[in-house]
Amino acid sequence: MSLMLAEMTWPEVERAIAAGMTTVILPMGATEQHGPHLPLGTDTFRAASLTEGLSGALPEALVAPVLPVGCSDEHTGFPGLLSLDHETLARLIVDCGRRIAAWGVRRLVLLSAHGGNGEALELARTRLQEQASGLEIRILTSSTALSEAFAAVAAAAGISPDDVGLHAGEGETSEMLHLRPELVRMDRAAAGYAGSMSEVMPRLRAVGLRGVTPTGTLGDPRAACASRGAKYLAAEIDGYRRTLATEADPRFEVVAR
Ligand SMILES: [Zn+2]
Repeated sequence: MSLMLAEMTWPEVERAIAAGMTTVILPMGATEQHGPHLPLGTDTFRAASLTEGLSGALPEALVAPVLPVGCSDEHTGFPGLLSLDHETLARLIVDCGRRIAAWGVRRLVLLSAHGGNGEALELARTRLQEQASGLEIRILTSSTALSEAFAAVAAAAGISPDDVGLHAGEGETSEMLHLRPELVRMDRAAAGYAGSMSEVMPRLRAVGLRGVTPTGTLGDPRAACASRGAKYLAAEIDGYRRTLATEADPRFEVVAR
């Protein structure tokens, strides 16, 4: 039986819930520029792949369709942008979360492959804890997954964290070469903002990517390769799996005691 809600019938969902499949993963991507060499749907493709990998390790999980639009206003000024206000995305998650809880789901995993969704996710968690109190909310974001394992994959290949980059750099480009190589324009791949990724964050918040990198790239994608992309994705999935296994929702820890 498929675990994808969009491919299931309602009796199949009913039976799955009765059999204890009471987790739903809601994957979230974005439609935003990813440099001159990656498609706008990069984070949406990545969200689908990360979710597929995670669901393989979570036998009790059903998978909701990927949300293809997130909070991406930091990419304002680059054509192709679709974006939601934090409030809009939070409300969408809360609205769906309330319905999901009503058909018997106990845990909602919000898996975002786009870092800019973080504020909306926290807002949604707070509200769902008030409005759907039986529903445990877990948040998995790209920052959660910047695990030592991910960094180790880069280091083993001699790739610096600044080349891996925060956006459309070696990391995401390698992942896309693994996932959708036909969509990667490697002949257009060029070094973007090349400074420290940790130091650029305050400037990004103040002026957006357009003010920091004319191409939209943070990092250097030129050394990207598909096999390393597969390893990055596996490291992220492993990080998510361990996060879910170790960090229980404090409210539910109290209930368990
Ligand atoms: Zn991305």
